Amino acid sequence: MNITTILENVLGGARLTGEEAAFLFKVNNRDIWKVAEAADILRERKKGDVVTYVRNMNIHMTNICKNRCGLCAFGRKASDPEAFCFTDEEFREHTRDALAKNVTEVCYLSGIHPDFTLDNYEKMIRTFHEVIPGVHVHGCSPDEILYAAKRSGITTKEALIRLKDAGLGSVQGTAAEILVDSVRKIICEKKLSTSEWVRIIKEASEVGLKATSTIMYGSVETPEDKARHLSILRDMQDECNVFTELVPLSFLHKNTPLERAGLVTHDATGREDVLLVAVSRLFLDNIENIQVPWSKIGQKMTQLCLMAGGNDVGGTMFVDSLSRTAGAGEEADYFSPEDMGRMCGDIGRTLRQRDTLYHLL
Ligand code: SF4
Repeated sequence: MNITTILENVLGGARLTGEEAAFLFKVNNRDIWKVAEAADILRERKKGDVVTYVRNMNIHMTNICKNRCGLCAFGRKASDPEAFCFTDEEFREHTRDALAKNVTEVCYLSGIHPDFTLDNYEKMIRTFHEVIPGVHVHGCSPDEILYAAKRSGITTKEALIRLKDAGLGSVQGTAAEILVDSVRKIICEKKLSTSEWVRIIKEASEVGLKATSTIMYGSVETPEDKARHLSILRDMQDECNVFTELVPLSFLHKNTPLERAGLVTHDATGREDVLLVAVSRLFLDNIENIQVPWSKIGQKMTQLCLMAGGNDVGGTMFVDSLSRTAGAGEEADYFSPEDMGRMCGDIGRTLRQRDTLYHLL
């Protein structure tokens, strides 16, 4: 395969094949910048010079989790001394904090508590709306939906309808990790399978909900696995146009079971970060927005990835214990719009606030 031909073709409007994407994930030296440049050209054609962000706050209701995935430093057994689960009042207090921070979105991001049923999720969503009228609630990964539906004795589609009725604004496309079951066996053995993830996101679309798509890269997967993952997302988007964005999640290895088992001894590299964003922009011709994961890769790498096909910097977040427990520094919690704006201006781009569904505010 020839990099120049592949990039010329894709800039001419051809769709990248999975094999070509895997090839591009493997390039090094100066070829990295060639891939990044092509992706940057496509980003400019599609999205112009605007970089978007959403004013949001993560709420970590609990770190007690039924899964305790190999890739995760956050999830705990209920008996662990560091385990926590908010009381109703503590949950309200954090929600009031989000109100005070003037957010347009709350992002429910937690462990999957073994005792939770669908009622718990409905109650949390209703509390969000009660405390912050008009807020967009982004949450409930396919794994949470599958588990809560089972515990409540209903189908996942029925669960989605009830969550939507309670006020869920969009489904979090987490738990995707790498959509290749042999990889999932190593990094998130107890999570739902690839086919279940795909089915539940399609059901979300059927009940009228949008979702995000994610990819967790930099652990044990191969370039071919990443290409397979992107192919699944692109096919789903062709079929149901459900995704608002791709959120790349750069793997952080510290304190994870994968590290303890000696299976992964380092974080995703800078080369992998740049190429993930760039190849995603080139491959996902039907997903408009490619986010850059600043809390995982830091603000300086974020700026570079914005020059490699990225057009969004995600949320202000205010707290990201998932990244912090896996070794990210204090700066993983909050990126102020002022600092985001400065970073964008420095590369000739303009920062604009958006809502969760990418309407400019
Ligand atoms: S990644 Fe999510 S599901 Fe897995 S252990 Fe961590 S919190 Fe639980």
